[in-house]
Amino acid sequence: MKLSEHFSIEMRSFRWLLRHERKYTLCLIAHSILTAIVSYVPLYFSSKIIDALVSGDSVRVLVVYVVLTVGLTFLIKVIADAIRPHMDAAFKRAYLNEEWRYSKKAMEMAYESIEDCDIALLRDRIKTESQTGFNLFYLCRTTRNFIFTGTQIICSLAMTLSFFRNSMISIQIKVGIVGLLAATIVVESLCMIKSMKITNTFWDECVFLNLIMEKYNNYVSNYGAGKDIRLYGMADSLIKDMEAFDTEQYRKNRKRSVEWTKANLPRVIVLEILKFTTNLFLIAAAVSGAVSVGSISKYVSGIVKLLWAVAKLVQDTQLAFSNHKYLKRYFTYFDIPNNMYQGTLTVEKRDDVEYYVEFRDVSFRYPGSDSWALRNINLKFKIGEKLAIVGMNGSGKTTFIKLMCRLYDPTEGEILLNGVDVRKYDYDEYMSIFSVVFQDFSLFAFSLGQNVAVSRDYDKQKVIDCMKKAGLKERLETLPNSTETFLYKNYDPSGVEISGGEAQKIALARALYKDAPFMILDEPTAALDPVSEYEIYSKFNEIAGDKTAIYISHRLASCRFCDKIAVFHEGAIIQQGSHEELLADVRGKYYELWNAQAQYYMPEGA
Ligand code: ADP
Repeated sequence: MKLSEHFSIEMRSFRWLLRHERKYTLCLIAHSILTAIVSYVPLYFSSKIIDALVSGDSVRVLVVYVVLTVGLTFLIKVIADAIRPHMDAAFKRAYLNEEWRYSKKAMEMAYESIEDCDIALLRDRIKTESQTGFNLFYLCRTTRNFIFTGTQIICSLAMTLSFFRNSMISIQIKVGIVGLLAATIVVESLCMIKSMKITNTFWDECVFLNLIMEKYNNYVSNYGAGKDIRLYGMADSLIKDMEAFDTEQYRKNRKRSVEWTKANLPRVIVLEILKFTTNLFLIAAAVSGAVSVGSISKYVSGIVKLLWAVAKLVQDTQLAFSNHKYLKRYFTYFDIPNNMYQGTLTVEKRDDVEYYVEFRDVSFRYPGSDSWALRNINLKFKIGEKLAIVGMNGSGKTTFIKLMCRLYDPTEGEILLNGVDVRKYDYDEYMSIFSVVFQDFSLFAFSLGQNVAVSRDYDKQKVIDCMKKAGLKERLETLPNSTETFLYKNYDPSGVEISGGEAQKIALARALYKDAPFMILDEPTAALDPVSEYEIYSKFNEIAGDKTAIYISHRLASCRFCDKIAVFHEGAIIQQGSHEELLADVRGKYYELWNAQAQYYMPEGA
């Protein structure tokens, strides 16, 4: 990375910290400046006191110096201590915010980015890097240190300025001290480059190991995996693997510590030599009478502190440079734009509920894919119609629904709602007209009511009605806290476990609660047998009443009650019509699939 890039990342990071964690950053700046200044107060005034004693000044002057020393030190410390709890609390909140930032970003991203496995990997990686200490943690640390050492350098220079201005001190001594400072920077920088390489290699390996460990930990602590782990006797080998990771981590850390110490040895030696030589120079200057007795300690401390601060600045630059590589990746993730076109039109709330949706020559390719998932789809349907989308697995049924709900936009063609391109509608409003139950629906470890209403505040009676309609009447009666009962035991030990079939019914109740004009079932029942799926679909059809309902299945019989059936095959609609019409076409795909699947619906032995 070029120096200019390091600089621009550092600037951006600081602006980012100030914008997202303003309170913490302001406390950090104030606290770092105050704690850096406080040690200079007694140094400055002690030289004044010694000079006043030597020159026989009045007691009053001495008392003023003592009061100023104690008073100023006390005041600065009190202010710094008052800031500290706010800074610590703001730091803890910054950490919580960091977790929340990932969730917020995931929610703001276009759906296609969420499905993109490269983006998912990037997210996992930067999360692990942050847990390893990079990004926010090192950014806070280096920012604090830069402000602290920067203040120390300014104070040290201010304190030693009169030394360099003093015409009685020989030019050789001044040049010698400046030379020593320059030598410190050179030695520090050389050691920094070497130790940076060692540290970077180590951290890269650590991030990789942490990533694997994280996956392992998730796996072994997931109770779903607990069955397989026990039944197949995997515990011993998993424990051995995890112990091997720990040992590997420990071995690498030990190796890095030894190498780092070796690389930094010249730095430590040179710094001590430089401190010693500076002392000698200053004593020589004092002996020759060029500086006052009181000033010796001031200059010695000032120059030693200056050397220390410069060395620390170089070290922190090393840490900041290492972090820049990670921050760059961090910003890459958070900079991912949401390219979905955001329209502004409001979706007309029609009293006559006269909506119609039309797919006009729609084709779609998934991002990064060369093949068409959908090709030249033309389909029109009205509110109140019952539409079935049938076809083999992989024929494009789910993709069709994802486009209709605007999880993706078409690659070619357009989708119209009441004659208007759906991209022109306000995104959230457009989404609100669909209730979809996908095959991979999610339930949360919250209360049942929250799961159905997808909100903390819900209409309890409406939740109960929807659950009853979805076939959960008996189950509801067995629950200890009715709709307040928690699902699973993550947050509540009295939470209930539910079967796969019950989970599907809760997902159906959620779709009913939303009460949207369009109801879509995208094979949430795929794990059930064909007859049970048919029963659920036809029951749902009764509940859906006069709403538009779209049923998706690879099992033709599940949807035979629909007004209109579209047969998908390899991304295209190859047939459309009612069940009877399609079955009448004995050379059609529907007829072929129907006969192939008919055995599942025959009585046994038929
Ligand atoms: P169906 O619902 O009929 O089983 P899908 O709509 O899920 O079919 O898939 C249609 C085609 O698109 C398949 O070839 C599938 O592999 C592909 N596909 C589905 N999802 C993605 C995705 N996220 N990225 C790339 N290709 C996908």
